[in-house]
Amino acid sequence: MRGVVMHAAGDVRVEDLPMPTVTEPTDAVIRLAATCVCGSDLWPYRGADEIRRPRPMGHEYVGIVEAVGSDVMTVKPGDFVVGSFIASDNTCEICRSGYQSGCVHRVGMSGAQAEYLRVPLADGTLVATPGQPEAELVPSLLAASDVLGTGWFAAAAAQAGPGKTVAVVGDGAVGLLGVLAAREMGAERIIAFSRHADRQALAREFGATDIVTERGDDGAAVVKEMTHGLGAHSVIEAVGTQEAMLQAINSTRAGGHVGFVGVSHDVEIPGRLLFGSHVALHGGPAPVRRYLPELIDLIRQRRIDPGKVFDLALPLEDAAEAYRAMDERRAIKALLQV
Ligand SMILES: [Zn+2]
Repeated sequence: MRGVVMHAAGDVRVEDLPMPTVTEPTDAVIRLAATCVCGSDLWPYRGADEIRRPRPMGHEYVGIVEAVGSDVMTVKPGDFVVGSFIASDNTCEICRSGYQSGCVHRVGMSGAQAEYLRVPLADGTLVATPGQPEAELVPSLLAASDVLGTGWFAAAAAQAGPGKTVAVVGDGAVGLLGVLAAREMGAERIIAFSRHADRQALAREFGATDIVTERGDDGAAVVKEMTHGLGAHSVIEAVGTQEAMLQAINSTRAGGHVGFVGVSHDVEIPGRLLFGSHVALHGGPAPVRRYLPELIDLIRQRRIDPGKVFDLALPLEDAAEAYRAMDERRAIKALLQV
């Protein structure tokens, strides 16, 4: 089967790889319906994460179950399934508390940018859609696998809700879907930080009421001005850099909440800043599995259309161009057709 392998920064190849098989009784093997390139895949692509050996890429997936191990009870061959970037048993104490991405048996997924994928802990990880989804819903279901679920968690962690002003740092797919999540949670005002016209337009379509082009301390100052000097109630951090995290904390009012989901790279929060801020920080790898049933339902009802973040679709064989387009910000998010 064909799959995407990163050999070094900037070096992405589509290669012949061994066909995944059921190796544990709790495994499933799925045939991908679609997959995509993640903003987090750009960290190693840009050399910010070291690649010691060739790395099979991809952790966002939807597809059809091909085979299951003898212990798998909840999905069967032929089911259309959505999973997330961390496999979880969904039965341990951490999973039952809603933090499946911290499951005591968690397995980080990779290798989803391929024709087939082995999914460990299939019962706890995969959610089957009722029947086969219509083709036009596949991009939105794929978005649920990571970027929508992550934006949703960020909005929940930031305690977005009715009457709240929510600010969103980061105009990638996760930030944009954080805007959508905040709208669905009933936020009154949603401020998106963005300098790119196409992303600003999508942010507005997803529910942003205001766009701020300043960033860093200047951006935080603008949010303070817009909120009578107080700051937003809820701020989503969807970048992972020092500047973005400080921008998020400094945009938040005393007693407010930051939901941080950008994969942290060299972020160091000064203790005195945090101490003086009265801001609650919560985030990390999103427990997407917690939200999948609800998100699949909203997509099937056509109440939300998160698949709009895919502004480029290419065949799997053209994965290198998909990475280039996202790296050069010519695309918000690239879908790979399998
Ligand atoms: Zn668990």
